[in-house]
Amino acid sequence: MKVPVPSNVVEQAARAKLQKRGVSLEDIAQIVYDLQIKYYSKLTIEDCLESVDAVLFKREIQHAILVGIELDELAERGQLSEPLLSIIQSDEGLFGVDETIALGSVFGFGSIAVTTFGYLDKAKLGIIKELDAGKEKTHTFLDDLVASVAASAAARLAHRLRDRDENRSRIELEKRDMEDKIG
Ligand code: MG
Repeated sequence: MKVPVPSNVVEQAARAKLQKRGVSLEDIAQIVYDLQIKYYSKLTIEDCLESVDAVLFKREIQHAILVGIELDELAERGQLSEPLLSIIQSDEGLFGVDETIALGSVFGFGSIAVTTFGYLDKAKLGIIKELDAGKEKTHTFLDDLVASVAASAAARLAHRLRDRDENRSRIELEKRDMEDKIG
């Protein structure tokens, strides 16, 4: 029987890949902040950072990050076969698999995450715009993955802030957090 890869190995690999490709958690938190500040004036960048960090506990998101970044890196090194190599290298507009993989990983955070992902795909805030504009590297998958982490973190935060406003107890919030980190 094959032995499953330990979860902490997968999580650390996904976080390391993001960092290696030039995306910090602070960069993603800034997008979350810009999305949510209009709805919650007391929002802090620490709130956003905490939510981005929590989203990265999710296996589905870790897996999407690993698959997408791997394809970007293989394309950058010319190690895919044609015509896929050229499609990914040129960030072909009708390809769509980059968006599909990223979109698939936001479903765990509900409808706000889905609609926010769609918005970020068009508006390209913050580092998403930088990744999209940087032509010397291949970021065909990475820009969408960053949008999916930001969208999930923004949706999670929107629900958390409502809970906080309603003065739910610390134990109740922690229980909800634990529930969120499953899967
Ligand atoms: Mg893309």
